[in-house]
Amino acid sequence: MENRVAIVGAGVSGLTCGVLFAKSGFRTAIFAEQTGHRTTSGVAAALWFPYDAEPADKVIPWALETYKVLVDLSGDPRGGVSMIELRQFSRAGEVQIPDWAIALGAHPLHASPVAKVLCAVPNPPAADCYRFTSGFGLTVPLMDTTIYLDYLADRLIAGGGSIRDGVRLDKLEDVSREFDLVINCTGIGSRSLVPDADLKPHRGQVAIVPKIDSLSCAIVCDDEPLMYAIPRANDCVFGGTNELSDELAVDPATTARIVDECSRVLKIGNPQVLAERVGLRPFRRSGVRLGRNRLRDGRTVVHNYGHGGSGFTLSWGCANAVFELASSG
Ligand SMILES: Cc1cc2nc3c(=O)[nH]c(=O)nc-3n(C[C@H](O)[C@H](O)[C@H](O)COP(=O)(O)OP(=O)(O)OC[C@H]3O[C@@H](n4cnc5c(N)ncnc54)[C@H](O)[C@@H]3O)c2cc1C
Repeated sequence: MENRVAIVGAGVSGLTCGVLFAKSGFRTAIFAEQTGHRTTSGVAAALWFPYDAEPADKVIPWALETYKVLVDLSGDPRGGVSMIELRQFSRAGEVQIPDWAIALGAHPLHASPVAKVLCAVPNPPAADCYRFTSGFGLTVPLMDTTIYLDYLADRLIAGGGSIRDGVRLDKLEDVSREFDLVINCTGIGSRSLVPDADLKPHRGQVAIVPKIDSLSCAIVCDDEPLMYAIPRANDCVFGGTNELSDELAVDPATTARIVDECSRVLKIGNPQVLAERVGLRPFRRSGVRLGRNRLRDGRTVVHNYGHGGSGFTLSWGCANAVFELASSG
């Protein structure tokens, strides 16, 4: 087995793989154009929940594997991982609770009026004010990206690994020949790097607002308009959007729409907007690419990209699979 590994990409996928390889004794170096907070991963909410990623028969097992690791990490206060109640709502009819969610303890919220189970909002109005018709509750891990990405980087470095940023590669063969194993974790960057025309940018915009004292759970509605309010340690993420677009500039009208909708649901006045962020979810129609291949120069490459809206949710399951593939001769 090769013992020097170059990982391209320092978002959640690259950092998680880096932690795993470094702790297993590999000489591990990450090369990336941008790191941590400046990547798509730095924009994410980042709640554990399988969303906008294919194919389900692989995504769910990877997600469940990741869930277990994150539950363990939630016991370490340095990691920025906590367990939070997710309340997932629908605007039309009865929400279907997926089997995997039932196995994790999901329970329907329609037994009591939806409004009353929303969260600790004082004097909740009638359910139809929220335009939600049903929902379910489930306890899931939440990674506070402002803490978690640095935590992963620190673990990698403590394990003897290194991160070099500001390195933009035109092709994977440009990785220094001192590394005989290359792991490709470049997210939407794989469109031009591999290149892979099947990768599509699912644009997401969020607004960061101050912590809302009355909000103790994560509220999500995937029906149009996509809406979520996710409380973190020091602030709250309001979202969101999901459209096919490469546009990285913030759209102020979209921020206004997001803040209006979240504030209406939470029955609060519009909060101050601390920051607006945009990221491109790396969605791959044919599914997450996780496989072993050869570069043109004969070196082994393991691809790990195309996680769409689930990069955090799949991170440890995929990193384990990458490690197994890399170790398989
Ligand atoms: C608004 C929003 C909300 C989201 N919410 C969630 C959520 O709640 N839960 C969840 O699980 N997921 C969520 N996601 C999805 C998640 O953010 C992504 O799936 C995840 O960030 C992908 O991580 P990655 O490490 O594969 O890619 P990225 O984070 O994009 O990192 C790619 C890395 O590769 C580097 N790179 C790219 N090209 C090159 C190149 N040519 N040369 C050198 N380096 C290169 C980049 O600089 C970067 O370091 C959300 C995404 C968005 C946009």
